[in-house]
Formats: sequence, C-alpha cells, structure tokens
Amino acid sequence: MTALPAISLSGHEQARVHEPCVLLKLGEIVLKGKNRQQFEKLLQNNIRLAAADLGIGLRLWQRDGVIVLSPTLAADSPADGEAAQTAADLIADRMLDVMGVVRVCRAVRVAKQAQAAIDTAAELAGGRPGSFAVRARRRDKRFPVTSAQLAIAIGSRIQRQYGNPVDLRRPDFTVHVEVDQSEVFVYIDGLAGQGGLPVGMSGRGLVLMSGGIDSPVAAYRMMRRGLYCSFLHFSGMPLTGPESVYKAYGLVRQLDRFQRGSRLYVIAFGRAQQRLATSGSGRLQIVAQRRLMLKTAQAMARRARATALVTGDSLGQVASQTLTNIMALDDAVRLPILRPLIGMDKTEIIAEARRISTLELSELPDQDCCSLLMPRQVETRARVADLRKIEARLDADELAEELAASAQEYRPG
Ligand code: ATP
Ligand code: MG
Repeated sequence: MTALPAISLSGHEQARVHEPCVLLKLGEIVLKGKNRQQFEKLLQNNIRLAAADLGIGLRLWQRDGVIVLSPTLAADSPADGEAAQTAADLIADRMLDVMGVVRVCRAVRVAKQAQAAIDTAAELAGGRPGSFAVRARRRDKRFPVTSAQLAIAIGSRIQRQYGNPVDLRRPDFTVHVEVDQSEVFVYIDGLAGQGGLPVGMSGRGLVLMSGGIDSPVAAYRMMRRGLYCSFLHFSGMPLTGPESVYKAYGLVRQLDRFQRGSRLYVIAFGRAQQRLATSGSGRLQIVAQRRLMLKTAQAMARRARATALVTGDSLGQVASQTLTNIMALDDAVRLPILRPLIGMDKTEIIAEARRISTLELSELPDQDCCSLLMPRQVETRARVADLRKIEARLDADELAEELAASAQEYRPG
C-alpha cells in the first residue's frame, strides 16, 4: 500500500489544497485474503485500461478497501481548476463500468484540518435542495477531532449557511467526510458501481453470442464474476443476410466497456445447418444445431484460450431449453457450459439488458440462424443416442473443426 504523499506545506498554503479526485470503494476484493495483492493489481490494471483513451494522466493510490484516483495535469493548470474538475468527472464516469468497483465517489481531497473539511463540505453542499445527513469517518484515530464532532460541526454549518434540514434516516443527500492518514476526502453521495470481481480474475470464457437478448446479459454476468470473455457468433450465411453479424458486432462493442480488447469470432453456419437437416435430424434439428455450435465453440476455445463456454440458456424459456435438452447439450462437449441466466425470468433478463444498454440492439430485426430450417415441432426430450447417430452420419467433430478454422475475427472495441 502506498500512501499519498503527505501534504507538507505551510499552514496558509495547506488550507488551500483542494484537489478533485475519485474514490473507488471496493467490495469482495477486500475479502480475498492472500491473493488480495494479485487482485488489486488486476483491478488497477483494468482501471488504467478503462481510462486509457481519455488522454488524461492518472495517479492511483491503493488504500484499505479504497482506491484514490486523481488526474495529473499540465504544470501550468491549477489543481482545482475547471480542467481538473472535468478530468475527474470523466474518470469517474469510466469507473462506473469497471467490474470490482462497488461505489464511485467524486471527491475533493483537502488538507488534514477540521476547518478545511468543514469549508469544503459546505461548499459542496451549497445550492443542493432537500434534507441532508453527514457521515464522518476517521481512518486515522489520532486526528484530534472525533467523527461525531466533525459531523456536528459540518451539519450545523450547512444548516446555518443554506437552511437545509437535517434528516439522518432518509436524507436527500449525504455529505461524507473521510479523515485519512495524511489528508481528508469530502464528497456527496457517490454512485453505485458494477460490483463483482475484476475481469480476468476468474480466467477466460467463450460466449456463444446470438443477436438476441439473453446472451449479452449472460456475458455481462460472467464478466462481473471476473471472467474475461471472447465471443462467438454463428450466422445463417450464406442462407441469410449479414444482419445478425452486425448485431453481434454492435453488442460486443457495447459490452467492451466492461472489459477492453474483446474479440468476436464469426462463423457462417447456414451450410452446416443444411447438412444436419439432410442427415435426417427432423424434430431434433434445433438441439442438433446447438450441439454442433457447442462442439465448434470447444474447438475455438483453444484459440481464445478459454476454459469454459457461456450461453444465455434459461430453464424452460424455449423448447430447446428443457432440462432434458440441456443435458443433451452438456453431453456434446467436455468443457463446462456456464449458464448464468438459468434461473432468471425473461422480464428480469430484459430489465438487465436495458440497464446495460444492450436491449435496443438486441431488439433490432434480423434473421437468426436458429429460425432457419426450424422443424414444425421441436423435440423437448432429445435423446443423446439419437443425436449421436445424426452426428455420426456427417462426422460432426470434423465438421466442428472445419467450422472453427473458418472463423473470422473482429475487434469491435
Ligand atoms: P438469445 O436471446 O441469447 O438468442 P434465446 O432465448 O433466443 O437466446 P436460443 O435461441 O435457444 O435462446 O439460444 C440459447 C443460447 O444459445 C443463446 O443464449 C446463445 O448462447 C446460444 N446461441 C443461439 N443462437 C446462437 C447463434 N446464432 N450464435 C451463437 N450462439 C447462439
Ligand atoms: Mg436466440
């Protein structure tokens, strides 16, 4: 842990230190004991990546359960000027998408003096409507003013100066003051971050990405559990147009804000679907297609260095997602298939898709490859032995290897 450099200025100058910064509150990562340092490093890396294209220099300090970020500016611009404020706002905005960050707080860093804290708190609260509360914390217990004394001083100052009423139970806004080892942070409210674990902490996965609503949400859920995701899309080409590919591309681009450098692999699947149909798949066509997709994904996983596959299956949502069919899908590959949406209702999935801004794209019309060659009735109790027979007729494992080799790679970020 590196401490911020102590602010060792004369009393007069010290009172003027007033630096915009961003406080990131970390959740589970704090609990991870021995591996903690490695996690912190990964998170710091992800933070830098998320802000890299802003063109703003970034200073980063790791504290107990908190990361402090502040923009570094050209020598001639004032540390608390408009440019620094804007830079800190931009950084804070990016941090809202970094997995592992529980809260993002746009703060002001001031000298370690009660008066500086009180003045800054009043300044930040100025002009805000409604009731308020003050929460003060000392990380440094040697600070001569107790948390309670500080909270009272700030509360009465704001009341006196602006007339806002105090409401400790349901305040409209909360003023936070955190006394640290060598300075004080002051901020109001803060915003909820994504939570979860830093991307990359749980290894790598390959997401089977349709153009639909479910698979982008599934990917998001796994990224939030620390899985770095690559994406694989099957289009119905050449039997369909390229619309579904555009959608998959757009969706991966949207998801790339949660992890940088995402790769999308695209495979034209139409001919393979035709071959399954002519091998007499009948009512098993959909499940047979999904098995072939999974086998192909398994072959691709090597290239993507992935050790798990991810799908947007939700139990019982459509005929191909009955428990029997899901078991028949698991039988097709050796890799584990992660299904983070398995117990979610469609309404819950849609709400999450809206929140992560993938819904609108998913709802655009396209010709999904699954709707090609759709049998009149879909088998809900597929038998593995029957599926294997169909696959033997067209040597499905070799076909999967060929399909994998034909994949086109894109970098939608
Ligand atoms: P989604 O909304 O994700 O398309 P869905 O409700 O339409 O899901 P299915 O069409 O049965 O359900 O697909 C289930 C899962 O299979 C998808 O979530 C996805 O992981 C995978 N999948 C389906 N079609 C494709 C495709 N064309 N390319 C890649 N993966 C696919
Ligand atoms: Mg679909």
